[in-house]
Parts: sequence; C-alpha cells; structure tokens
Amino acid sequence: MKNDNYKDLLEDFLRYTKIDTKVSHDNEEVPSSPGQNSLAKLLHQEMTDLGLSELFLLDNAICGGQLPGNNSSLEKVTLFAHLDTAADLPGNTKARIIENYPGGDVSLNEKSSILVSENSELSNYVGDTLIVTSGDTLLGADDKIAIAEVMALVKYLKNNDEIPHGDIQIIFVPDEEKGLVGAKALDMSLVRGSYGVCLDCCGIGEYVIENWWAGEALVTFRGVTAHPMSAKGKMVNSILQAQEYIQGLPETERPEHTEKKEGFFYLSNLNGSTVETTAKIHVRDFDKESYENRKKMLFELALKFKNCTIEYTERYGDCAKALSENPKLLKTVREGMEALEIKGIPLSMRGGYDGSALGMKGLPTLNIFTGAHNFHSAQEYLPLRSAEKAVDLLLYLVTHI
Ligand SMILES: [Zn+2]
Repeated sequence: MKNDNYKDLLEDFLRYTKIDTKVSHDNEEVPSSPGQNSLAKLLHQEMTDLGLSELFLLDNAICGGQLPGNNSSLEKVTLFAHLDTAADLPGNTKARIIENYPGGDVSLNEKSSILVSENSELSNYVGDTLIVTSGDTLLGADDKIAIAEVMALVKYLKNNDEIPHGDIQIIFVPDEEKGLVGAKALDMSLVRGSYGVCLDCCGIGEYVIENWWAGEALVTFRGVTAHPMSAKGKMVNSILQAQEYIQGLPETERPEHTEKKEGFFYLSNLNGSTVETTAKIHVRDFDKESYENRKKMLFELALKFKNCTIEYTERYGDCAKALSENPKLLKTVREGMEALEIKGIPLSMRGGYDGSALGMKGLPTLNIFTGAHNFHSAQEYLPLRSAEKAVDLLLYLVTHI
C-alpha cells in the first residue's frame, strides 16, 4: 500500500520536526524564535538543491522559491505553510512511527494515550502508518507536514516533467501561531500566484470555506485617587469602572457560552489599580455587519465613563469573500476531491489562518487539510496516507486549475 510517488515525505517531515520552532510570545521579534530561522535556512538550501528559481530568504525567515510552469494555460498558484509550532507545549519533538496501526487506543507513554473514545476517526486508519508524539510535546505536524507535502509535490513534478502545470510558488512564513504575524509581514510583491493555498487544516477532506472576523480592544479606564479616609466625592476607582463596563456586555456572548457560528466578546486580560485599569477584549463574529455592531457596542459603552479610551486592533477577516469572488480555486479543489475519492468536509473555522490575512491583502487563499489531527496537543498525530492524499490533491490542483 506504500505510495512511492512521495517517497521522501515521511523522512522529510521527521527531519523538520527535529528543529524546535516553537513560537515565542515573549518578544516582538520576527521570527519570534531562532529555530524558525534554522528551518527557513534548511528549506532555502533544499529549494536551491532542487533547482527552484526566484529563491529568497529574508531576515524575518520568510522564504520561498518557484517551480516554473510548463503550460501557460494553467494558473499560477502559491502554496503556503508556516514554520512555527504552537506555544502550548514543548517543541522538542521526538516523533514515533507506528507501522500498520492495528486499531484501538494509542499509548504515547505511561501517562497518556490517544483514546478511540475521544478520536472516533482513528478507526479509519487501521493498517495505516501513524506518526505520534512521546506524549509530552507537540508533534509539529501543524505545520511541518504541510512543508513536507509541498516539497513532495515539487519533487514529484521535477521527476515527472511531462506533467503539465502552471507556475508553482512555495512560500514559508514564520509566527502564524502568534496572530498570523508572518503572513501579515509578507511583502505581496514577492507573491507570484493568482491563487493561494494554505495547508494548515486537519483531517483528510477538510477545507475552510469561511472563518470569523477578528479584532481586539484594549479598553483603558482612568480613575482619580484620593486617600481613602477622605475620598468622599473625590475618588473614582477605575477597577470598578472596568467591572461595570464588562457587566454591560451580553453575558451569554462569551466563549464559554458559544459554539459553531456564534460570535462573542472575550475578556482575556484585566489589569489595574484605582488610578488606571485596562481590559483586553477580543471580538469575534462570522457576520461582518454583526462584527461591526459588536465593535460599535464597545465604543458606545465607553461613552458612559468619563475617562475611558479604546485602542482597537483588527486581527484578520473572513476568507469567504475572496474565495467566492474567485470561484475557480474552490471549484478545482472540490473537483479534485471527487476525482480522488476524498470525502470533502467544508468547515466554518472558529479561528484564522494565514489565508485570512492574505485574503485581506488581495490573494484568494484556501486552507486545505494536511491530514493531521489534534493540533496544539500532545495527542497530535498524523496518518501517513492522509498526508499522501493531501499531496495528490495539490497535484490535481496545480495540473487542473
Ligand atoms: Zn497551523
């Protein structure tokens, strides 16, 4: 059952997982961790060895190259993957291979397992090769299997140059897990594709058709201090103002009360003293109008307080608009899934991905599956056959779009 078309796929993936590229939230540098520079340097070398053109490697670890097309009637596509791994767990991955998975729970170490009761899809992978963690780190399939998949596609086309395809550009970006920092920093004049594809999604068949609008408000309350023994009529306690403000937001529209396509306000940080208090409030909504109304509500509520200011930062937007205005991408991916007998699973993503930022910058970018499961956890695992199918789908895309 082994797919020899992409014979380096597993080995490449394992090699990339050995470089610790865990994102850091403790600095403002891009990239936020030196491992990302190491991985970018390695990939730049590998793209050079493969003979790709238009190579670049920037100080911020953004790197890329291009496999020139051999058929000008096919569209130019840029494929994206991110270099960093999430901050949730250590990134010093020691991946383990389970060949011919017999089914049942997968023990990672004495204390932790991947349970069938929590991962019903496991039964689909009996007989497949699974790549798992040692139980205390991330696997980093998010997003290193995407990197390996993109490289596998390029290697395959290099070895089979009679297959017609358009220009294929690949770009690797840092710090996706830190609010899409790398994609936002990307100079779009480097991008050659008319369409973009991010491989940054989960199980086989899944693809993102929409995601929510996202931003955050830093609300600052300024109070007036006075000695408490003689504070009557003078003291204004900014902590209590913040409390009142937060109570003014709808109680049921919080992350703990919402799911699917429901939006929310999320108070993630509250910091203060009598004289000054700041509240960080994240705003999320799938509907643009409703998202704008939420923002408006925050500003209107602020008017009730004497010294309250809001600094609002937009994070990313919905990919759906860019995708529907440029339907060829989604159409070709759906046709590809059908041709490859992959059951398509469209997702409304309660989150953002690099394509959400790239769509805002004018590049319609679809997020499709890598094949891996349980991102950001020690239970992260990859069925190899799903990863091979992801490359098959990319191959279909670049030869049909
Ligand atoms: Zn990711």
